[in-house]
Amino acid sequence: MAQRLIVIGGDAAGMSAASQARRRRDRGDLEIIVFERGNFTSYSACGIPYWISGLVPGPEALIARSPETFRTEYAMDVRMRHEVTSIDLERREVVAQDLEGGGEVRERFDDLVYATGAVPVKPPWAVTDAGGVFGMQTLDDGAALRDWLDADPQPRRAVVVGGGYIGVEIAEALIQRGLSVTLVEAGQQPMATVDPDMAELVADAMRSLGVTIRTSLAVSGLEQQDGRVSAVVTAEGPIPTDVVVMGLGVRPNTALAEAAGLPLGPTGAIRVDRRMRVPGLPGVWAAGDCVETLHRVSGLPVHVPLGTHANKQGRVAGINIGGGYATFAGVIGTAVTKVCDLEVGRTGLREREAAAAGFEFVSVIAESTNRAGYYPGARPMTVKLIAERPSGRLLGAQIVGWSEAAKRIDTLAVALWNGMTVDDMTALDLGYAPPYAPVWDPVLIAARKAVDALAALDR
Ligand SMILES: Cc1cc2nc3c(=O)[nH]c(=O)nc-3n(C[C@H](O)[C@H](O)[C@H](O)COP(=O)(O)OP(=O)(O)OC[C@H]3O[C@@H](n4cnc5c(N)ncnc54)[C@H](O)[C@@H]3O)c2cc1C
Repeated sequence: MAQRLIVIGGDAAGMSAASQARRRRDRGDLEIIVFERGNFTSYSACGIPYWISGLVPGPEALIARSPETFRTEYAMDVRMRHEVTSIDLERREVVAQDLEGGGEVRERFDDLVYATGAVPVKPPWAVTDAGGVFGMQTLDDGAALRDWLDADPQPRRAVVVGGGYIGVEIAEALIQRGLSVTLVEAGQQPMATVDPDMAELVADAMRSLGVTIRTSLAVSGLEQQDGRVSAVVTAEGPIPTDVVVMGLGVRPNTALAEAAGLPLGPTGAIRVDRRMRVPGLPGVWAAGDCVETLHRVSGLPVHVPLGTHANKQGRVAGINIGGGYATFAGVIGTAVTKVCDLEVGRTGLREREAAAAGFEFVSVIAESTNRAGYYPGARPMTVKLIAERPSGRLLGAQIVGWSEAAKRIDTLAVALWNGMTVDDMTALDLGYAPPYAPVWDPVLIAARKAVDALAALDR
């Protein structure tokens, strides 16, 4: 008799796991049932800001594989609009509600993949019946915001609450659609995923696009008129608006897991081992935004909800379920984004994280350009490096600049992943031609500067 795999959550992690398992085991050997409470499978939430701005079409263009494709080409039983409401580990069963047809189904499993993603942080004041208030997590959220922006009366003013990378990307999208945008951030600046000195460069770029940035200010309520949001309430008075988009971050979606007794780690996400197995529960796997993972530099467990990790972790789980052997090696915190033409990249630890992990370190900032200074289109590029003292091992890097800035972080990510020192890095054989870099690449300039800073301290 075929064994049965049940997958909860039909996006990046869940469908990667299901697809990999199917590649290794045919339907006679492994039956696969996927429960997805939404309307889409394998979609790119990452593309939503560019759909909102109108740069890319959607939602179809953001879907990698439809439920029908999984049914016909992967022989999976994909049950859309089905929400799993409980897991019984003793009986090895899940219970799901049919959100369209009504009723309840109960299915047994041999293997279970828990891939429910994350849920947006939603403070009590954001629970409202007023129209025009949006979270930004799923394609359905994107569709709802687009409908609101297109409908009459067309919104002219927008408030984005929270200046993480999603808030920043949505602010950019709304500016590009011609709205007047205010970004409200409770911290000292938006883009706290990089150090404050680098974040300031991002904030400057946003201001120059016309985004009003209000920092050290928390939203505490909403005002509405005729059923539509009309302002956000702050300690410095109301900010009038026609639409509010929340970008306050996410937390792992673990409610079901907790109720079933899956172990959570110190970050509040599900604990897994390097093969994506949930410890102590044979046949139970978890992957994606709902799990925590090892930070390879700090050595600490972290919750880093990114699609790049969700896809890899799902793949690892699926290979193992399929009878192969795969491990997830942890993360180093690499991420990229942009604000119009300004690109931002980071990898490893920020200063605050390096200090919290107990490292002694130096940090340097090198100003350079993306191309030879005389070449058309040369623009500033700022590279920050954080290096352990006295060893010189690279601990973190951040880049802010115009074209070719963001993906340069990958060079630094590879150096960091492989434990290189800034001294080693000064000798890297990086490509040079005037359209792509100055003769000394900004990465090499920054590495030399870090070597000098270490030498000055330990002289
Ligand atoms: C606007 C935006 C931009 C982003 N940009 C980037 C980027 O540029 N780079 C990057 O790496 N990452 C980015 N991300 C993050 C990335 O989208 C996520 O990390 C990734 O989607 C996580 O995949 P996942 O499968 O773990 O979870 P999800 O994609 O959240 O999928 C989980 C699925 O589980 C379903 N589900 C949950 N509970 C149940 C239940 N009880 N029963 C049935 N189904 C359930 C949900 O409906 C959902 O479809 C972005 C996210 C957003 C929102």
